[in-house]
Amino acid sequence: MKIPRRAKTRPARRRRSPAKPTPERARRILDRLEEAHPDARCALEHGNAFELAVATILSAQCTDERVNMVTPGLFARFPDAAALAAAPPAEVEEIIRSTGFFRAKTKSIVGFARGLLERHGGLVPRDFAAMVKLPGIGRKTANVVLGHAYGMNEGIAVDTHVLRVTNRLGLAEGDDPVKVEAQLMKLVPRARWTRTTDLVIFHGRRVCDARRPACGRCTLFDLCRWPSKQAWANGDKKPPRRAKGKGTR
Ligand code: SF4
Repeated sequence: MKIPRRAKTRPARRRRSPAKPTPERARRILDRLEEAHPDARCALEHGNAFELAVATILSAQCTDERVNMVTPGLFARFPDAAALAAAPPAEVEEIIRSTGFFRAKTKSIVGFARGLLERHGGLVPRDFAAMVKLPGIGRKTANVVLGHAYGMNEGIAVDTHVLRVTNRLGLAEGDDPVKVEAQLMKLVPRARWTRTTDLVIFHGRRVCDARRPACGRCTLFDLCRWPSKQAWANGDKKPPRRAKGKGTR
């Protein structure tokens, strides 16, 4: 009896999981961003650490350009922590009104100034733990101030641009800034932490826009892991729908 030959069956193809982010890929991305945006810098105008902290608090839900319009008047009237701590809230509110959420922001910056005066003699401490204990100061603001005013690499400030761009690139995953910061800090050498924020923010503003990313002219196209990048590069009218929680913001 002829025994039928068993049909050769191919082993089921395993779906490849997206490549894990590596320090090497992060390095290549940052090197290219350095080339593309050599002028990347903190866009908030400031003369010292106190001014930068106040400007950073005011920049929440507001453009840096708008903050830069308001701060010269604010610092002319209240030039240091002592002056701002004693400021009449109504007057501060009026000056910063155009930055939005002006009542809450007034509380934050006056509270910050009072905290500085009471705990640090009016000077911004060069210490991350002490910074984040001050009213109005979170991890992002502390990182921005320590990084740009004092040249200290204590962390990577994660704002909406950093969240979006690093998720798309596949360097980080999720929309929790603290978790994303921790993921990035594992990939990027400490000496580049502050610079990472500036470069990624500039790339987010100039190229990797939230609504209309210019993937077709992006220097990171081959290194980017965003599934929709090809559609955007092709100039498709209707790019793929957002995949929830996958860094498409
Ligand atoms: S290829 Fe597109 S999604 Fe990826 S970083 Fe560049 S602009 Fe952003």
